[in-house]
Amino acid sequence: MIPAAYAVLDLAAAAHNLQVVKRYAPRAKVMAVIKANGYGHGMLRMATSLQAADAFAVARVDEGVRLRKSGISQRIAVLEGFTCAEELEALLAYQLDAVVHSMAQLTILESRAEQGACAVWLKLDTGMNRLGFKPKDFPGVYQRLNQCAIVKKPISLMTHLANADDQQDPATLEQISLFKDTVATLPGLHSIANSAGILTWPQAISDWVRPGVMLYGISPFAESTGGQLGLKPIMGLHSRLIAVKPLLPGDKVGYAGTWVCSLATTLGVVAIGYGDGYPRYAKAGTPVLVNGRRVPLIGRVSMDMITVDLGSQPDAKPGDPVTLWGDGLAVEEIAACADTIPYTLVCGITQRVQILEKDGA
Ligand SMILES: *Cc1c(COP(=O)(O)O)cnc(C)c1O
Repeated sequence: MIPAAYAVLDLAAAAHNLQVVKRYAPRAKVMAVIKANGYGHGMLRMATSLQAADAFAVARVDEGVRLRKSGISQRIAVLEGFTCAEELEALLAYQLDAVVHSMAQLTILESRAEQGACAVWLKLDTGMNRLGFKPKDFPGVYQRLNQCAIVKKPISLMTHLANADDQQDPATLEQISLFKDTVATLPGLHSIANSAGILTWPQAISDWVRPGVMLYGISPFAESTGGQLGLKPIMGLHSRLIAVKPLLPGDKVGYAGTWVCSLATTLGVVAIGYGDGYPRYAKAGTPVLVNGRRVPLIGRVSMDMITVDLGSQPDAKPGDPVTLWGDGLAVEEIAACADTIPYTLVCGITQRVQILEKDGA
């Protein structure tokens, strides 16, 4: 029996989206970013569906360890690196690449003697001010790292773009030039671009690209959908109507009664809520597909249910299918209605949502 709320994943779309990356970056190697449980799609499932990727990236050591224990053999880079000697042990034991971004990490590496045991991505902070060494410190850090016995040579070099999804922001080109100037004389392969960088900034495409969201068929830009970029969305989120009833003028719907009926209509109750990962802040008017046709969300999203105005399809009945996002309803559109980005929606699907893989995928 299919539970009320479920997500259907079209895993064949992953290979298609990887091909789109390769079209934009034909000579680059691809490090597919599958952190945060593969952006909510399942980390191992995504690693398997993206077998053609040259490497994977995760945020944390434990994510990398889980991939290795599941038999993934590609290179796996840990984007936050290690924070203590114990985590370095795990990186070494499971042959994970470390991103090195702090003096504390450098000190730990300098205390170790194992020859060439750890592949390293040295991170430059070109303006995001999150992880990485400042340009003035970078050459010195590079030299010290290059003298660490444990560090496999050559060291790889990376940075991260803070605002690549804004095609107008000159800061992206400044970040790219600062990176190129700082690493110009240092041996090692380069990596700069996330999805927005790949899709918008050819200058950001170097030896390795690091696509995340686009691999899931989702646009990194506020003004477009994955479909419009030639990507195929992987995830659809679905549920069903569980109650249908008349509403009269003056009736208030949901917690706090924020939505008040003005013209008599039909109310539908759908079995999905923020307990499933549907966004709590989706506004009244957010589109929902009932029987494949758009109806507006009304009232507040609650933990297990949402309410919709079935005025345009009063014959709808309990059991009828509902799509929250997926075919015919872009997750980017729902994100905009909830003042968030689509990343948070797919990442936020909870344990209660059963994941089904589309046939033939
Ligand atoms: C998450 C992440 C990416 C992927 O970003 P998308 O916008 O999803 O393409 C790439 N690089 C780093 C360092 C990241 O943290």
